[in-house]
Amino acid sequence: MLGADDAVTGALLARGWPGRPLADQPLGIDLLNTRWITAGVAYDLFDHDDLTGAWLTDRELPTARPVPRQPLREARAAVAAVIADPADHAALNALLDHGRVRLAVDARGRVEHDDVADPRWRAAWACLRDFAALREATPDRLRKCANPECVLHFQDVSRTGRRLWCSMTACGNRLKARRHHDRARATP
Ligand SMILES: [Zn+2]
Repeated sequence: MLGADDAVTGALLARGWPGRPLADQPLGIDLLNTRWITAGVAYDLFDHDDLTGAWLTDRELPTARPVPRQPLREARAAVAAVIADPADHAALNALLDHGRVRLAVDARGRVEHDDVADPRWRAAWACLRDFAALREATPDRLRKCANPECVLHFQDVSRTGRRLWCSMTACGNRLKARRHHDRARATP
């Protein structure tokens, strides 16, 4: 279920880590939000087998032995690169080459299956496939938080399409306050 972070929440608690922000994004963007910064400390689910496994469970993705942290890291880097620069899709296309979409039909119509030979790439490829679909559907609305010190990403589903922040409280207000402070200091 979208936004259900039950296993991750439990695994984070077990480590004494803070909760994961912005866990409500679609899969292709949620891949990016597996790392975050809280109170100046960087956290990354893909640094640990238990946290990566919990994320795969929550997202209903296939796992493998060993836990496929490296393919997920590579996929995450490739997606972040495309969001930073939409023309920079070579790495993403190279990773998509790990799999194919296999077509079939059922009583209602077309059915698509992921066809990924290497079990370690199945979860990462599913994330990439989801991102490719998001990019097709809303190319201008996949963004990084405008706070340069924040690493979170989101799909802007607001009516105006002008969302800038992962969250107004976490980043928007903080940056506005700093700008106000800078302006106040600059005024003699
Ligand atoms: Zn942010």
